[in-house]
Amino acid sequence: MKVPGADAIIVRHGDIGVKTSRVQSWMEQTLAENLDAMLSARSIEGTVEQHWGRLFIRTPAPHSAARAAADVFGVVSASPARSVQPQMAAISKTLADVAEKTYDRGSFAVDARRAGDHEFTSQDVGRIGGEAIWEAVADQFDPEVDLDDPDHTFAVEVRDTEAFVFRGRIDGPGGLPIGTQEPLVALISGGIDSPVAAWLAMKRGAPIIPLYFDLGEYGGADHRARAVDTVRTIAASAPGQDWQLRVADIGSTLESICNRIGDTRMLSVRRLMLRAAGEIAAKTGAEGIVTGESIGQKSSQTVTNLHVTDRITDWPVHRPLLAFDKQEIIARARSIGTYETATVDTGCNRIAPDNPETAAPIDRVEGAEPAAFEEWAREAAAEVDILQVEPKFEPNST
Ligand code: ATP
Ligand code: MG
Repeated sequence: MKVPGADAIIVRHGDIGVKTSRVQSWMEQTLAENLDAMLSARSIEGTVEQHWGRLFIRTPAPHSAARAAADVFGVVSASPARSVQPQMAAISKTLADVAEKTYDRGSFAVDARRAGDHEFTSQDVGRIGGEAIWEAVADQFDPEVDLDDPDHTFAVEVRDTEAFVFRGRIDGPGGLPIGTQEPLVALISGGIDSPVAAWLAMKRGAPIIPLYFDLGEYGGADHRARAVDTVRTIAASAPGQDWQLRVADIGSTLESICNRIGDTRMLSVRRLMLRAAGEIAAKTGAEGIVTGESIGQKSSQTVTNLHVTDRITDWPVHRPLLAFDKQEIIARARSIGTYETATVDTGCNRIAPDNPETAAPIDRVEGAEPAAFEEWAREAAAEVDILQVEPKFEPNST
């Protein structure tokens, strides 16, 4: 809900608030930097202020700034607000003005919060502010107060040196500010699952080093373009990061794998990817690997096969989608904005054998891999191309 005369954004966070004070202030500082980066990336004017427990943005463009803030990891909600002196008369006058411009009919309530030293309580704000709203609109409408389930809520947040009047909240993604964890190498295929997995790791504060394996003729014509496009979309959630996509060409290695390995081939392809990802993690200072796998989604993702896959690497493999159903993943992909691209048909050639193994014994998987297998993975990692990726914003987000 728009607030006439809004000149500020109230930015709320969640999990940061339960940290020790030293960690909290460092995380709030990181959040402030990320908010600033989001505003500049979208060319929105604004100055971010860090206060204990809250951040504020002063801006001449409150409604686009609030939408931008609500796209930043760590933000639980953002509200465009009008700032006023922390005095009862000024608050009532502003409430009356906002009500005149935004109330039409139905019930209303004042939701007041207060922190600091004032000559009035939050109950006073509710009562006196409610009367001011009533007087402002009673001539024209027949207002009714309903504190339990109002049609209109007028919110007031009073702080030491300032008060804010606002009308609603835009939900953010929650999580932790990106950059408050160490980076992770994210395996991104451009399909539905992997961009969502990478996004969820970012949501918990970990910057992502995206890694795409070019499957050569097994990938189909648009396979790489699809991966680049999904990385651009998730990059828009953290435009302050340096977004470099690493591309490892494994087309000819896949041909060798398909020629030499039978039923356990898919697992060896996964193992090759994880082994190469570990090399990249070591080189880039990452602390682990992220994939879009989910228990039982396909034969290579049974718990037994995930175990066999992990045996190729010492690196921790994080699987944020472990317990997600496909429909839940699709819903996430739609809200993140990667779904459309992920469903473009790339004419991908199937690598999977006719009867893929659902519970492959490790000895058989390892036994089928040639002696040079780990060397192939090292070579793939050594020859990555690095593409600089520009964040891609939704058309109406700037
Ligand atoms: P997605 O929809 O994410 O592509 P999927 O359901 O098709 O995954 P698989 O093809 O078995 O599942 O891949 C499992 C995971 O392995 C993917 O989520 C991704 O993290 C990684 N992966 C698969 N193919 C590639 C690739 N070409 N490049 C990078 N990572 C890949
Ligand atoms: Mg998929």
